[in-house]
Amino acid sequence: MLSFAVLRGGPIQGAYRLRQLHFHWGSSDDHGSEHIVDGVKYAAELHMVHWNPKHGNFAPALKQRDGVAIVGVFLQVGKTLKREMKRILEEMESIKTKGKETPFLHFDPSILFPKSRDYWTYEGSFTTPPCEECVTWILLREPIVVSPDQMAKLRSLSMNTENEPFHPLVDNWRPQQPLKGRVVRASFK
Ligand SMILES: [Zn+2]
Repeated sequence: MLSFAVLRGGPIQGAYRLRQLHFHWGSSDDHGSEHIVDGVKYAAELHMVHWNPKHGNFAPALKQRDGVAIVGVFLQVGKTLKREMKRILEEMESIKTKGKETPFLHFDPSILFPKSRDYWTYEGSFTTPPCEECVTWILLREPIVVSPDQMAKLRSLSMNTENEPFHPLVDNWRPQQPLKGRVVRASFK
């Protein structure tokens, strides 16, 4: 049986289906996130991409204003580690170079959420080209904590294939964009 994680509540209507999750990170701990909160850049940012099944499939959903919802979680380097990150980072050992895949079964992405469910939300776009304007962003306020070793693991992935020279995959974040009149709302006071 096919099963999938769904996202509901908050600013979205209905249940959106999880399509994929990915990270953005920097070459050092003082930058890497795509969102900047009051001038603070985090070491990394996790994106969980969900699509609205009322549009039938992922591709047509990209053309709709209510097509996609992305949950963003900040990663901060510290001591009280988010244990649940361990499994993801261990699996990365088998996909260290471009084009590699590994099965990742029975995974509940909500275990990566911070304790607090406070969030900011706004209507925006994908951060990778062609940056479709179809995204309801849900950005969790509280970061989750990772170790320096875990950040090093992310930075040890290669942009190149196995047979090509190692070229570290770092700084895969999009620079800050003008707000252009977008309204950012908070779920908290
Ligand atoms: Zn992203």
